[in-house]
Amino acid sequence: MERQTAASDIWERDLGRNSANYVPLTPLSFLRRSAAVYPGKTAVIHGRLRYSYAEFAARCRRLASALAKAGIGKGDTVAVLAPNIPPMLEAHYGIPMLGAVLNALNIRLDADTIGFCLDHGGAKVLIADREFSATTEKALAKCKVKPLLVEIDDSEADYAAIGGKRLGDLTYEQFIAGGDPDFVGDAPVDEWDAITLNYTSGTTGNPKGVVYHHRGAFLNALGDVTFFALHPRVVYLWTLPMFHCNGWCFTWAVTAIGGTHVCLRRVEAAAVFRAIEEHGVTNLCGAPIVLNLLAHAPESVKTKFDHVVDVATGGAAPPSAIIAAMERNGFRVTHAYGLTETYGPSTFCAWQEAWDELALEPRARVMARQGVTVLTFEALMVADPETMKPVPRDGQTIGELMLRGNRLMKGYLKNPEATAEAFRGGWFHSGDLAVWHPDGYAEIKDRAKDIIISGGENISSLEVEEVLYRHPKVLEAAVVARPDEKWGEHPCAFVTLREDAGAVSPDEIIEWCRANMARFKAPRTVVFGPLPKTSTGKIQKFLLRDSARNL
Ligand code: ADP
Repeated sequence: MERQTAASDIWERDLGRNSANYVPLTPLSFLRRSAAVYPGKTAVIHGRLRYSYAEFAARCRRLASALAKAGIGKGDTVAVLAPNIPPMLEAHYGIPMLGAVLNALNIRLDADTIGFCLDHGGAKVLIADREFSATTEKALAKCKVKPLLVEIDDSEADYAAIGGKRLGDLTYEQFIAGGDPDFVGDAPVDEWDAITLNYTSGTTGNPKGVVYHHRGAFLNALGDVTFFALHPRVVYLWTLPMFHCNGWCFTWAVTAIGGTHVCLRRVEAAAVFRAIEEHGVTNLCGAPIVLNLLAHAPESVKTKFDHVVDVATGGAAPPSAIIAAMERNGFRVTHAYGLTETYGPSTFCAWQEAWDELALEPRARVMARQGVTVLTFEALMVADPETMKPVPRDGQTIGELMLRGNRLMKGYLKNPEATAEAFRGGWFHSGDLAVWHPDGYAEIKDRAKDIIISGGENISSLEVEEVLYRHPKVLEAAVVARPDEKWGEHPCAFVTLREDAGAVSPDEIIEWCRANMARFKAPRTVVFGPLPKTSTGKIQKFLLRDSARNL
């Protein structure tokens, strides 16, 4: 008797994967395609330099070829220490073309931490901009690995002003000149292969090495294209560091749609407004403090532009007052949320048509929520981290924001315990405390370690900051816990005033808060002065907590 074929088999038998119908996902295919479709179009602008897509692709292939000649191959780590300039962008393609792994380093890190990252990641090559020669020299003297040093001598940098000496005798331009512009790199064998290594900022202890894969980078770049509505006429200004989550994967997303990358060594308001005018910038990204810098720039540097500039903000909660100030200045804000572990933006505050009718301020308030998943992400949930049960969608109950999807890190390099802990219960634990609104939008209330517990009540530092930012004389604010004999802790506000604020007393600020929120949440201590920040624009609350403790 003839054996019956199980019904499900008909979908598998004779229908296998082959190289025609199954290709591993990788962002490298974006460059191949854009170089073929738009060879003559400007891909990269940097000062006086212009590279077409054909030239950009050729430079990336030269880099890959030069690295291959230097003995670099699959699985090797190549570290890069550079601001947002063409070599950093090229590294995002030239290094993975070999199956090697890019480790983009934070340019503000100290030599010890850079040395730690080089050793931990096992860097075989270090491509470093001259500006950071002092750090590079010290880091190389300390670390155990002995990477080949390739120095970037940027023709558009004024090293006489910014400093930086040459440490060796091999420049980046010499190095890639020895590479073949027609080099064909190996495509990743497996889309799960590592593509980049990104260290977290390591505010407590050594940084953790977050490993991305080709598939996740491909999907996140396409997620960026959808949530930020990118199209081939996009002129993208590099105000977000490329070393931060690979520039939230916009290093790949802008190339994917054949847009133009506009490089920027340093984020200064005047330079940003000049680039908007000169190059017709349409999109940029930045932490809320970058938005604040632009919204409150002196009128003399604010050039007039007659098109809408789209700005995606995230990395920290944008107070609604900052969103409103940007919109008044002709920018359209999209709010995104994510972590290094999620390749940058994993959720965003998706626009609802009904909000078109709202006045600016209430609209800014709904937009300040962290929102819903980006298209290529699978799911979010706000849940109790112990029971893993979702909290009710009441906009009140606090739980941990958890994420799941195809664009989460492979894990932390050489740290299986931390990886297992992060993925506990089949969800990624963000460490952020949030509420879930009835419309499915999540709203972060605090990082777990930033929440203030006063008289047994939770006080969200973000909620207090939100009110402070609405005070007309406040430029920036951060709220942390200060030990308190009676209440355990109380909110302590650090405030930077606007230049034209005149004299303001702590009592005036406290009264403003009491009038605009539950009294027990109002700060009891107010300190005026500048706020310490990281290079990615986050206010360093751990430093402020120390100051508050010692007041
Ligand atoms: P690091 O942990 O080194 O500061 P990350 O970029 O990974 O760098 O930081 C991620 C954290 O930043 C999140 O866990 C969250 O606390 C905060 N964050 C990012 N985006 C937002 C946002 N839109 N709103 C509030 N917090 C945010």
